[in-house]
Amino acid sequence: MTPFETLGLDKPLLNAISDLGFKTPSEVQEKAIPVLLSDETDLVALAQTGTGKTAAFGFPLIQKLQADSRTTQGLILSPTRELCLQITNEMQQYAKYIKGLNIVAIYGGASITEQAKQVRRGAQIVVATPGRMKDMIQRGIVDISKIDYCILDEADEMLNMGFYEDIKDILSNTPKEKSTWLFSATMPKEVATIAKKFMHQPVEITVGERNVGATTVQHEYYLVGGRDRYAALKRLADANPGIFSVVFCRTKRDTQKVAEKLIEDGYNAGALHGDLSQNQRDLVMNAFRKNQIQMLVATDVAARGIDVDDITHVINYQLPDEIETYTHRSGRTGRAGKSGISMVIVTRSELRKIKSIEKKIKQQFIEKKIPTGIEICE
Ligand code: ADP
Ligand code: MG
Repeated sequence: MTPFETLGLDKPLLNAISDLGFKTPSEVQEKAIPVLLSDETDLVALAQTGTGKTAAFGFPLIQKLQADSRTTQGLILSPTRELCLQITNEMQQYAKYIKGLNIVAIYGGASITEQAKQVRRGAQIVVATPGRMKDMIQRGIVDISKIDYCILDEADEMLNMGFYEDIKDILSNTPKEKSTWLFSATMPKEVATIAKKFMHQPVEITVGERNVGATTVQHEYYLVGGRDRYAALKRLADANPGIFSVVFCRTKRDTQKVAEKLIEDGYNAGALHGDLSQNQRDLVMNAFRKNQIQMLVATDVAARGIDVDDITHVINYQLPDEIETYTHRSGRTGRAGKSGISMVIVTRSELRKIKSIEKKIKQQFIEKKIPTGIEICE
């Protein structure tokens, strides 16, 4: 028996898993999958980003559905449009050997008519952002009154983004007898409240503090004068010609500005933030996924949960306000056991923040110097 077989997964899934090249389950998968397959239970799973949560709920959900019924049976709520698409793509790969199983993404900024059409064709699984989902329910396009499974993915982030009321509304349209599976990186009060209010004696799973990839990420900081940030960024890019990175800025405006400057200066860059149209965001994400863009300049919200393989560097053009956010950022690299580097461009006054981050991630930063022009040429 393969390690996935011992978890209780059936042939069609095992074949898809083998195609994906997954050899052994991650910790959260090992803990969640047998429970979800064998019991009708609520579940709270706490696991950092990059630990394989999508498969942890995706495999059991797919196995338990009736693919021969057209009814919507599973609802997955996720905070951003990008994540929504990512989960949908990933789930479609898991379900590739199951005939007639339709997984549909519902998110804002794209045509409702098109999404409605897909739903009407019969979607056993709907993956949605809370805002658009609420809209679709109100218009009577999606019926979630018969679902058996409701998954709240990245619950902490959804609540951070102010989706509490929307989630409450959506859940009130679901039947009482269903299983709710909540996945979150952290357990702030708001998440605990949701769990208490909407879940019944959930099984609780926590996987190690550490992201599976975290130990493979090296953290570095580069001390610069406040005006030298942009020049430093260019130097870092020049010194790493094979770079494939996400560059994080604090605001949408800075994100747009830095991306534009990089493009002007001849770098292979693109911007991802909430002021862009959905179409623009999709174009940029697709280009990035295909390695056509080397430096994706992004805000935290837009980049949340983005899972692109082989990101070599995360660059913190500016540090985030919350230390938690730094963990999410650096988790974009060093995924699935690969190595990565998280670089921070800091000014002297921000150095204390580095100290707090070190305490939180239990790892030391390496202080590095911005490479000089001569070093880059060598
Ligand atoms: P999370 O939701 O916890 O951030 P994801 O579900 O996005 O994590 O998974 C992160 C990456 O790891 C994805 O590229 C996924 O395909 C890969 N992955 C998931 N499970 C396994 C596994 N058991 N073996 C190898 N890779 C895996
Ligand atoms: Mg995820």
